[in-house]
Amino acid sequence: MAWYTEQWSNECKFSIAYDKELYSEKTPFQQIDFYKGEEFGTFFTLDGLMMVNEKDEFVYHDMIVHPAFATNPSIKKVLIIGGGDGGTAREVLRYPTVEEVVMVEIDERVFRLCQEFLPVTANGVEEDSRMKLLFDDGLAYVKNAPDQSFDLILVDSTDPISVGEGLFTTEFYKECYRVLNEDGILINQHESPYFAEYAANMKKAHRKIKDIFPITHVYQYHMPTYPSGHWLFGFASKTFDPLKDLNVEAWEKFGLKTKYYNTNLHAGAFGLPSYVKEALQRG
Ligand code: SAM
Repeated sequence: MAWYTEQWSNECKFSIAYDKELYSEKTPFQQIDFYKGEEFGTFFTLDGLMMVNEKDEFVYHDMIVHPAFATNPSIKKVLIIGGGDGGTAREVLRYPTVEEVVMVEIDERVFRLCQEFLPVTANGVEEDSRMKLLFDDGLAYVKNAPDQSFDLILVDSTDPISVGEGLFTTEFYKECYRVLNEDGILINQHESPYFAEYAANMKKAHRKIKDIFPITHVYQYHMPTYPSGHWLFGFASKTFDPLKDLNVEAWEKFGLKTKYYNTNLHAGAFGLPSYVKEALQRG
């Protein structure tokens, strides 16, 4: 047995025991490592940070996808930026009403290696006829996308460092606004409120999005293997409000069995702890 360890703050580290390092590769974009252990099953890291593991991936992938569909059950065209493990696409494709999913992942190796080592997220995604997979920079893609061409944009990115940096810029959020339909929704990776470095990223992202979208919210979920375990997504929209417009009846009609998300939890997820609300308000 060996230990995978990552740094969560200057004075806090997190470790997972593993039995085997399955694969390691340095791509032009990032360092990719796959491990296998008892507690979390197979997991992979990018540049030494946990991305996805078999045990808690359902939390992240439920929460990035289902709150938007429970707010607007008529979503048909979806753009996923990043998301190379396939888990976000897997959840979106469960909606029979979705007509087209474009996924723009910068690093094809992430997707190909997940097809090999993490089938729980990647399997079936490429084979779905509604799926269009592109290996390109997400920022470049949205810059060239036509006005009002998507109902939903899901930003399933790494942290705002290295290749992920452009996905946390005002420029990117403005392009997302332009590319979304009149009732479009943007869900983006919003970091975490607890450790200082992540909290600074959270505030920066929120400040930028608030200046562009008329409706903005932040919601939370519990991710045991991400720094502090307390993680956030941003919900930004032109018309839909995730609390006022929650459509329980329409979402229940889809009949999806979900392991984390449910419509009771929906409202609770938007009820943030006071210190998080204050940090977001202070900006
Ligand atoms: N759930 C994870 C987390 O928050 O730790 C993130 C999933 S991960 C697979 C994110 C993906 O975003 C990576 O595969 C990475 O290659 C991709 N990515 C980072 N920057 C990107 C960019 N500028 N354009 C497209 N994809 C990008």
